[in-house]
Amino acid sequence: MNKTYRIVLGTSNPHKVAEIRRKLQGSASLRALGAPLEVLPLSDYPNAPEVVEDRDTFEGNAVKKACELARVLGLPVMADDSGLQVDALGGAPGVISARYSGTHGAYAANNAKVFAEMRGVPEEKRTARFVCVIAFADPAGLVFTTEGKVEGRIAPEPKGDGGFGYDPIFYLPELRVTMAQLSLAEKNRLSHRARAIESFCEKLANYFRTHSTEV
Ligand code: IMP
Repeated sequence: MNKTYRIVLGTSNPHKVAEIRRKLQGSASLRALGAPLEVLPLSDYPNAPEVVEDRDTFEGNAVKKACELARVLGLPVMADDSGLQVDALGGAPGVISARYSGTHGAYAANNAKVFAEMRGVPEEKRTARFVCVIAFADPAGLVFTTEGKVEGRIAPEPKGDGGFGYDPIFYLPELRVTMAQLSLAEKNRLSHRARAIESFCEKLANYFRTHSTEV
């Protein structure tokens, strides 16, 4: 029987699934294993539990999600947590980035809240970063994580209509644009998620090389 490696993604968000699948399947380290990699979305497992993200770090939430799902599904799982940290706000919105204004996914309201709190803060103190932590867990309890970051500043005004979430207010000083002014291809090259996935691929290839979880 031909060998296939298999991993479940702890998300059903089709944008994330497509981006992560493309990156994993395009990874040189994983291709060097010499067998296909099947990347399965959580939507393939309708009975998977809803994991509550109640930890106070990105890493805590990502590890919790990956461990609970790997245990229940009996397969290796990769799960992520990400968000925006603003230095002048003591690291907020942080782990509550998705619901900073009170409503999950209310991007405009979240951006407006950050802006209001940053009113009067001078340019040099507007430093911020996007952070993404990816966690891997297998059913035996083996866990590893990787992290990706992008440094920037809270923009003086929102700009651009690409991306999602805090992208229009996240200014990249070296490129002189906000994240929302980048093309999707550019964002996917330099984003916090892209950076976390890159190092994840190498660790995952090592894991598959040393564990016989092929099907
Ligand atoms: P999650 O990792 O999907 O739970 O993302 C949490 C929240 O962080 C999202 O709802 C966004 O508000 C924010 N966020 C994460 N990644 C990005 C990004 O690439 N651009 C803008 N906002 C992001």
